[in-house]
Amino acid sequence: MPELPDVEVYRQRIDRWAVGGRIQHVHAPEPEILEGVSAQSLGRELDGCRLQRARRHGKFLFLGLDSDQWLVLHFGMTGRLEPFDCAQEAPAHTDFSLELDDGSCVAYVAPRKLGLVTLTDNPDDFIAKRELGVDALGLDQDRFLELAKGRRGSVKCWLMNQQSLAGLGNVYSDEILYRARMHPKTKLSDLNDEALRKLFAARSEVLEISIKADADPRRMPDDFLLPHREADATCPRCDGTISRLKACGRTSYLCPNCQPSNSQ
Ligand SMILES: [Zn+2]
Repeated sequence: MPELPDVEVYRQRIDRWAVGGRIQHVHAPEPEILEGVSAQSLGRELDGCRLQRARRHGKFLFLGLDSDQWLVLHFGMTGRLEPFDCAQEAPAHTDFSLELDDGSCVAYVAPRKLGLVTLTDNPDDFIAKRELGVDALGLDQDRFLELAKGRRGSVKCWLMNQQSLAGLGNVYSDEILYRARMHPKTKLSDLNDEALRKLFAARSEVLEISIKADADPRRMPDDFLLPHREADATCPRCDGTISRLKACGRTSYLCPNCQPSNSQ
């Protein structure tokens, strides 16, 4: 499922591929992913507009147009962006695509149709309406500690809660906890300031390194959990065995040796 690093990589790519270009045509063959807008009105709003900027908050991508409207994309479980030559056929499972004035096209591809495409005239209002928390990449250590104080529940549930920190999902929460050597079920209220600072530092490292690696698991450092994310794999740090358990209703991977259940 695309999480903050994936969407940040899409933002950087859209910056390279499409920002500065003018939209010639919008194809929206899959109305199921459109929210609060029809394919016709989307075409009316976007045709002829210049893409001026791309902005990300959590797992949402906002593309700013010279009409002061913003196209909003969420990638659901499997969505991604893919460039293609407009003279060629669109990639399979293209739900939505933009044709630009330089002859290039960008497809929004979502084999499982759980993503979202919509319009807003104000991303900040959109973020507030969805009650999204602070972007997990943008915040500083003081704010991180402040947000964690007085919260109940497990550290993994908190990391994944989009209303507190926007952008982290199952995979990158596991990665951060692995780096911080914390068990996913550790109670947030049991973490002192030092442990929270350690968690914050792990968050920074994991997000920065994974974005630099284009959020591609094959390009992650070997001491990341991601390349070893399967039961009975070998932990690259201690040669222990990676195992899985249910935390916050999701299958979590961890090294019980590096992340004992009383870890702080
Ligand atoms: Zn280990």
